[in-house]
Amino acid sequence: MIYENVLATIGNTPLIRLDRVCKDIPGTILGKIEAYNPGHSAKDRIALYMVEQAEKEGKLHPGDTIIEATSGNTGFSLAMICSMKGYKCVLTVTSKASQEKLSLLRSMGAEVVVCPADATAEDPRSYYSRAEQLAQNIPNSYYLGQNFNLDNSNAHYYTTGPEIWRETEGKITHYICCVGTGGSLSGTARYLKEQNPDIHVIGIDAYGSVLKKYWETGLLDQSEIYPWKVEGLGKTIIPENVAFDLIDDFVKVTDRNSAVRARQMALKEGLMLGYSSGAALEGVFKLRKHLTPEDVVVVLMPDHGSRYLGKIYNDDWMKQQGFLHTPTDDLHHSSQYSYQHLKRIYKVYRRKYSRYIRQTLKI
Ligand code: PMP
Repeated sequence: MIYENVLATIGNTPLIRLDRVCKDIPGTILGKIEAYNPGHSAKDRIALYMVEQAEKEGKLHPGDTIIEATSGNTGFSLAMICSMKGYKCVLTVTSKASQEKLSLLRSMGAEVVVCPADATAEDPRSYYSRAEQLAQNIPNSYYLGQNFNLDNSNAHYYTTGPEIWRETEGKITHYICCVGTGGSLSGTARYLKEQNPDIHVIGIDAYGSVLKKYWETGLLDQSEIYPWKVEGLGKTIIPENVAFDLIDDFVKVTDRNSAVRARQMALKEGLMLGYSSGAALEGVFKLRKHLTPEDVVVVLMPDHGSRYLGKIYNDDWMKQQGFLHTPTDDLHHSSQYSYQHLKRIYKVYRRKYSRYIRQTLKI
């Protein structure tokens, strides 16, 4: 088959059995591998849909400038789409973004504006505020805004949801998905629940993010916030794309277990996926007691592992984080975390990383 251009290859990603890495988990566990998109992530779907909707609604015209605040996958997808469609692309990123990431964005012609990582969302220097300012100052520009633009979740309603329904022949019982902007959970879940309201939807959140607490209480609790490592997962704001009413369960996962799960997936399944894919797999392990052999569980794996070579696939980084203390296979037997082991971790981290201790003890 010959495709019209690279954008025509977005979507229709494969559903792959995770029999080896999930061999002790009841049910059929299937990964929806979004790394097969040409931009290597699920963000290709939303970037294309949001741009094409804006075109249809007359908000974008040939030669316009598209602006977005992102250092991650959405930026890469947008740069690809802009280069194909002839738009200028301006991305505001935080100074945390690595040189490799900036090079990835620039490789397809995006202009990158680096903003201080320590600025809060409201600070005029933050990458969110800068994107808004640029949208006001650059003539014929359009700020895409994936957090509040509901075409983000609509993209998944029209593509990811129907694909999963078709690929499982309607047998899916559980949908597990990381929540960042909420688009990939909400749009997909909305479609799936319309087909079968009994499908159980499980959101994965990071320790340090406000989402799970908000789902439980309706409150944005600032005291929940502290830094975490998994990129793309969790939020310190409440994005409009999270449809909290569609979520049946919310599971928090640690930075360490997410990293180790991603590495296990590469070793056992030959699938070298991103950090949040490890988080999603960790969610499956945390839920395993609730699963039965008849269940068909679809886990959305958001992106490819090549973006994390300096992090989770780098042993030195893993050691610096204290993530390589115990044999990886012990992960799902929390009883194997002896008192001595926890005490050792506690001592190591007490002074420097007191906030992370909460996470560590929740393993
Ligand atoms: N994982 C990665 C790597 C991501 O880039 C994102 C997007 N922020 C997510 C998970 C979460 O997806 P969503 O924004 O659709 O909730």
